[in-house]
Amino acid sequence: MNIRVLGCHGSQLPNYNTTSFLIGQNVLVDAGTITSVLSIKEQMKIDYIFITHAHLDHVRDIAFLADNICYQHREKPLVIVSTKGIIDAIHRHLFNNVIWPDFSKIPSPKAPVIKFQIIKPGRTQTIGDLQVRAIDLHHVVETVGYIVEAKGKAVIFLGDTGPTEDAWQIARKTKGLKAIFVETSLPDGLKDIANITGHLTPLSLAVELKKLTEVNPEIYLYHMKPSYRETIRKEVAAIKDRRIHIIDDGQKIHI
Ligand SMILES: [Zn+2]
Ligand SMILES: [Zn+2]
Repeated sequence: MNIRVLGCHGSQLPNYNTTSFLIGQNVLVDAGTITSVLSIKEQMKIDYIFITHAHLDHVRDIAFLADNICYQHREKPLVIVSTKGIIDAIHRHLFNNVIWPDFSKIPSPKAPVIKFQIIKPGRTQTIGDLQVRAIDLHHVVETVGYIVEAKGKAVIFLGDTGPTEDAWQIARKTKGLKAIFVETSLPDGLKDIANITGHLTPLSLAVELKKLTEVNPEIYLYHMKPSYRETIRKEVAAIKDRRIHIIDDGQKIHI
């Protein structure tokens, strides 16, 4: 599985993009950064976007990708996959003909630019070459992570989350688990705001990783607020018993 990090930060600044992971050429997890980094040719190859939650830093480039697809006259719709609650939020609050046109009915309801597809947490679905399963997380709005499997190798993308239980239990039981992408948005000094906003700090990450017994996948950290990246890096260095990597925008990861 080839993963290209289009963006991996929890805020936007010059040279710091918000979250999007490209798997192979046609599947994305989240849509924080697409159209500012992929060529039009690369954008037209995207068939599916798995959305972890409706926060703007994870959905905003669906809007600009849909607009580009519309004027490229592509026949195949772009499929936006998530839970019913998350899809409803995106449809109601983003593609609502006020903030942005409802591209699920443009150019026509029969042949639209985007289609919404609902996935139920806990159920595995086959999408192209991938097996995908959503898992519930614990953030301030409805949020899921995704287990993505191909050729006996599994990767888990945890969306924004504070401390949680089920996801780690599921991770422990995931066959062929090679890697987990997990957020660490804020440094320990901001733990109070992390608790209020449903995010992890290095200390709460360390507690979470203790729940991941029996397995030792690569741990890829993302969703840092850029101004705290270096502080977070120093604090994370205290976690000794895990293979932790802090990822960068543009990085390519082969699993
Ligand atoms: Zn976020
Ligand atoms: Zn969020």
